[in-house]
Amino acid sequence: MQHFPDAQAVVRALRPEEPVILNRPHAAARAARFFVEKFPGKSLYAVKANPSPELLQILWDNGVTHYDVASIAEVRLVRATLPQATLCFMHPVKSPGAIREAYHSHGVKTFSLDSVEELEKIVDACRDQDGNAATDLRLCIRLRVSSEHAALSLAAKFGCDLTEAPTLLQQTRQHCDWLGVCFHVGSQAMSPFAYVQAIDRVRAAIAEASVVIDMIDVGGGFPSVYPGMEPPPLEDYFKIIHQHFYALPIAYNAELWCEPGRALCAEYSSLVVKVEKRRGEELYINDGAYGALFDAAHVDWKFPVRALEDDLIKPEMDFAFYGPTCDDADYMPGPFALPEDIQAGDYIEIGMLGAYGAAMKTDFNGFGAAERIIVQDEPMASLYDGSRTRPEADNVVSLR
Ligand SMILES: *Cc1c(COP(=O)(O)O)cnc(C)c1O
Repeated sequence: MQHFPDAQAVVRALRPEEPVILNRPHAAARAARFFVEKFPGKSLYAVKANPSPELLQILWDNGVTHYDVASIAEVRLVRATLPQATLCFMHPVKSPGAIREAYHSHGVKTFSLDSVEELEKIVDACRDQDGNAATDLRLCIRLRVSSEHAALSLAAKFGCDLTEAPTLLQQTRQHCDWLGVCFHVGSQAMSPFAYVQAIDRVRAAIAEASVVIDMIDVGGGFPSVYPGMEPPPLEDYFKIIHQHFYALPIAYNAELWCEPGRALCAEYSSLVVKVEKRRGEELYINDGAYGALFDAAHVDWKFPVRALEDDLIKPEMDFAFYGPTCDDADYMPGPFALPEDIQAGDYIEIGMLGAYGAAMKTDFNGFGAAERIIVQDEPMASLYDGSRTRPEADNVVSLR
């Protein structure tokens, strides 16, 4: 991969015809070290946020040893990239073939589930050739929790509810020596209290079940910074999670896990796009809804932008973007504030696309290409550059 100081240097040197993904290894390394050092438990990287092998290697080199995988392709990819990594198959609905291959060929022992059917599926798929049940399974019950504090809901699809959880916990306990409870509060959880509410549900479920719990996994949802979404410092989240974890009726040596995706990689990448045409307040750019800007088009996510030309000096105005494919849905409403005199042939950097951005690119309509280049400058926003910690006295998180 080529190296440049920043996006402007890339544009000056290459005037690229295709979009370019700019990767910042130092930003991903810093995020990994932050979670490894400050989260009061184990941090699993949720691979779906960005499965690039270079990123997996950076996270591993900076202390992330466990990986949350959701498909057999992710299992194979992480196993091929990081032979020593611990893989946890945390999708609650898996195919028997995927479970079989994960367990028997890739050493995966940890699986999540939210139904008796899935429990039976896992137990069957992991039997040995003589039909004996596996004795080394580590199973994790996914509980449904509220997504009310999150920008993107993950509440509807997965998770058993409080009426089903106690029985499922008791049944699952009979098939494993290590039993966990997990949940996901939704992505980009803007308040630490999302985790408090969820842990309260865990308490209700395990009190009712009266089984020994060996692990609590608070899932992903840790935020990054975007225009209009400035979360409290992550230390606030870690502190409140730790306090509420300690107060749970669980095994004295129970483990605490989390599964950050977005928070570990949002700052890793930005995107350089070229303006192909201007029509009033609309800019036609060469990446879009079927590319790295899926969330900007489909869930109205806001990303920071900056113009990369030296000669644009006019005040800024609001623009919307059209992507390169031939349909109207390839549209990002923004608004994106850029210099008034921006025109066809100019370049724009769009920031904070390391999570659910670079990973979303498709080849639809022939527009999938993107070169990848390493840059050394800071991401457009950061949770980890020391600018976002508040003094203890200002801390809004109440102690129990
Ligand atoms: C998507 C996902 C994550 C990561 O979520 P973020 O909001 O990116 O932190 C973690 N765990 C599970 C089970 C997921 O599906």
